[in-house]
Amino acid sequence: MAFEGLSERLQSVMKKLRGKGKVTEADVKEAMREVRLALLEADVNFKVVKTFIDRVKERAVGQEVLQSLTPGQQVIKVVNEELQELMGGEQSKLAQANKPPTKIMMVGLQGAGKTTTSGKLVRYLQKQNRRTLLVAADVYRPAAIKQLEVLGADLNTPVFSLGDQANPVDIAEQGVAKASAEGFDYVIIDTAGRLHIDEQMMDELKQIREQIRPDEILLVVDAMTGQDAVNVADHFNKQLGLTGVVLTKLDGDTRGGAALSVKSVTNCPIKFVGMGEKTDALEPFHPDRMASRILGMGDVLSLIEKAQSAVDKEKAKDLERKMRTLSFTFDDFLDQLQQVRKMGPLEDMLSMLPGAGQIKGLKNIQVDEKQLSRVEAIIRSMTPKEKEHPEIINASRRKRIAAGSGTTVQDVNRLLKQFEDMKKMMKQFSNMAKGMKKKKRGG
Ligand code: GDP
Repeated sequence: MAFEGLSERLQSVMKKLRGKGKVTEADVKEAMREVRLALLEADVNFKVVKTFIDRVKERAVGQEVLQSLTPGQQVIKVVNEELQELMGGEQSKLAQANKPPTKIMMVGLQGAGKTTTSGKLVRYLQKQNRRTLLVAADVYRPAAIKQLEVLGADLNTPVFSLGDQANPVDIAEQGVAKASAEGFDYVIIDTAGRLHIDEQMMDELKQIREQIRPDEILLVVDAMTGQDAVNVADHFNKQLGLTGVVLTKLDGDTRGGAALSVKSVTNCPIKFVGMGEKTDALEPFHPDRMASRILGMGDVLSLIEKAQSAVDKEKAKDLERKMRTLSFTFDDFLDQLQQVRKMGPLEDMLSMLPGAGQIKGLKNIQVDEKQLSRVEAIIRSMTPKEKEHPEIINASRRKRIAAGSGTTVQDVNRLLKQFEDMKKMMKQFSNMAKGMKKKKRGG
């Protein structure tokens, strides 16, 4: 999980402060010494660490903090605000041209996740009902064009290509012309990367930039490479003038040094982070939410947004009605289970809850995905009639369902019991709601 080590260490420092009724200057200094070590260990650029610590110290030993009623909390507040500032302060949104198409040029070293991220952006924009065109301008890496075409087919979005013999500048230019002519909202140009930065690559990118005048030049870097990613960003920015950075593979980056240093070193905002290989694993980067996630204060807003994008509104309404009228069946149960799973791994969601890191039982929780799959298999092995009227599931039916789903009769019994308990609970709620309505009317 992202920021695991840093998060743990900072939280333990903050916990010590929080518990104190009186905080002295020496306490703050001691805490900052630990914060400094934690940041360095997380591979944050040393200059960035120094500036950060100086700023926090200056603000935290001030009169209004130490003499406040809750000095510990106030210091934490300062750390939270400065962390947020470090990562760019406000959220930096994707550009939108006054006149479509908005032109996005994707740049980066090979393997950073440029092509994958182009696909993720398409998915992100599609959710906002935007029409996108992908342009395959990487003619050097074998199979790069094919990779983009496969991605495009998966996402149901067109891919413009002139094969691997054409000049990338021409490809980009013609791709943009096509997007304009056909009224696309966004055109995303996947350019060539190299293993290392080289002059030829930069020259080509500059030519493309001159030719198409992009609204957005997004650099894709791999978070797991830590300070290397920051150096790459610095170099690209000086040569090309970036408008934003996409930090990929944050899901595997336990340290977080790149995420915390990129903005300060390059003055380029992080616009998105990649949290997995799938096309929906792209999140807009919110410095404030990230700061509170690192400090274990949770990220409830992102959690709610995730839920909103995963849950189908019509279905939710339908479900609510079924619960009220007690006509909830195993089919609905399955539906609900799938909606929850669409939100992503449960571990990730738990990590967004405030204080989740502090709860012992949750710390190394491995949500049993197998268990969920088992429940799905059992429900799928029921006949339509059984799903609607589970009360008809007798001993021989239980045996058949267990055999059909590759589970045991005990597993089936357990699920039936859970379902029954759930229905009982719904009945209670429904009665309670009715009672309240009556009271209202009566009074
Ligand atoms: P490119 O050479 O920059 O175009 O890189 P690709 O898009 O081909 O990605 C290289 C590898 O990184 C692929 O295996 C991707 O699945 C993987 N990848 C990209 N983004 C992420 C991410 O956010 N998380 C994880 N875990 N893997 C990613």
